[in-house]
Amino acid sequence: MSETQKRTELYELGEFKLIDRLTEPFAPKQQETLKGVGDDAAVISCGKGECLVVTTDLLLEGIHFDLTYTPLKHLGYKAIVVNLSDVSAMNATPKQVTVSIGVSKRFCVEDLDELYSGIKLACDSYNVDLVGGDTSSSMTGMTISVTAIGSAKEDEIVYRSGAKVNDLICVTGNLGGAYMGLQLLEREKRIFLSNKAAKPKLEGYDYILERFLKPEVRRNVIENLRKAGVKPTSMIDVSDGLSSELLHICKNSNVGCRIYMDKIPIDEQTARMAEEFNIDMFTAALNGGEDYELLFTVPLSEYQVVDSMENVRVIGHIVEPHLGAYMIPPSGEDIRITAQGWNALQKE
Ligand code: ADP
Ligand code: MG
Repeated sequence: MSETQKRTELYELGEFKLIDRLTEPFAPKQQETLKGVGDDAAVISCGKGECLVVTTDLLLEGIHFDLTYTPLKHLGYKAIVVNLSDVSAMNATPKQVTVSIGVSKRFCVEDLDELYSGIKLACDSYNVDLVGGDTSSSMTGMTISVTAIGSAKEDEIVYRSGAKVNDLICVTGNLGGAYMGLQLLEREKRIFLSNKAAKPKLEGYDYILERFLKPEVRRNVIENLRKAGVKPTSMIDVSDGLSSELLHICKNSNVGCRIYMDKIPIDEQTARMAEEFNIDMFTAALNGGEDYELLFTVPLSEYQVVDSMENVRVIGHIVEPHLGAYMIPPSGEDIRITAQGWNALQKE
């Protein structure tokens, strides 16, 4: 490289700007490509108003998972679920997955049996077929890449871009649990590394551990919305934290938002663990990530339906774009929502 050539470090751009820069020249050429880069999954028309959605995620050992506290069976399950979550966030039904793995000599056949028993469990529990993949040796631990395919009618697809002023903002389940589960596992790992005789103390926190190790997709909410005849105006899954996902919806829909701090659903175990760690539980909910809940908007006229729906909480509403994105605390000044979510390309 010549001395005059500029070198930009990856962290200077960050994940989202990097993806924008790399994919900007790839405007879709095929008329079947209804949505390319920029949502939870791509949308491809099959004709007659039917379409497929496609999404892929890459999981790297040491970056996305730590095998000192993640059982391989759980890892296999989670690798499938995180992809089905993106399919569901398009309001589509997951149908098939492919699974590609890279494995170093550290792993034996029985280890991969374990991994695949988790993959099988997820495929059975969500009624999807494993239809292919790839297998390779690796120099650096384990790598798992899953691609998921789902189907939907074209007019059922929900994008990040459809939120309208006055729409209600809803979130499923509760937030911050997976992050606090991870903090607990990391703490027990540190204790174990400094004293190999120490037994991990995990009692009383089974729910948040499960939230991190074995997340689920809120398929029942998708089905209940469909049964009630409510089509969300926009939707995204919460993989990077509520703040980051809200800003995606605001940016893609060209709107602002107001959410109410006291409406954000937080489980009692999450709150307790946050207190023990001296972490603000709202920080965990807003920026923690990996909850795989669904964040969606519906017209104000659907208030009664969503307010009475199991596992759904109305947390705010959409406003004009110039009003920005703010969280309203019970007292004091409004707090601007900023994305401190997971940045895959942080400075070392
Ligand atoms: P999610 O968190 O929902 O999985 P991401 O933030 O990973 O979504 O990705 C955002 C969008 O960018 C998606 O449409 C994804 O397919 C696309 N994308 C991410 N990385 C790349 C890449 N290296 N090349 C092309 N498209 C990418
Ligand atoms: Mg997503």
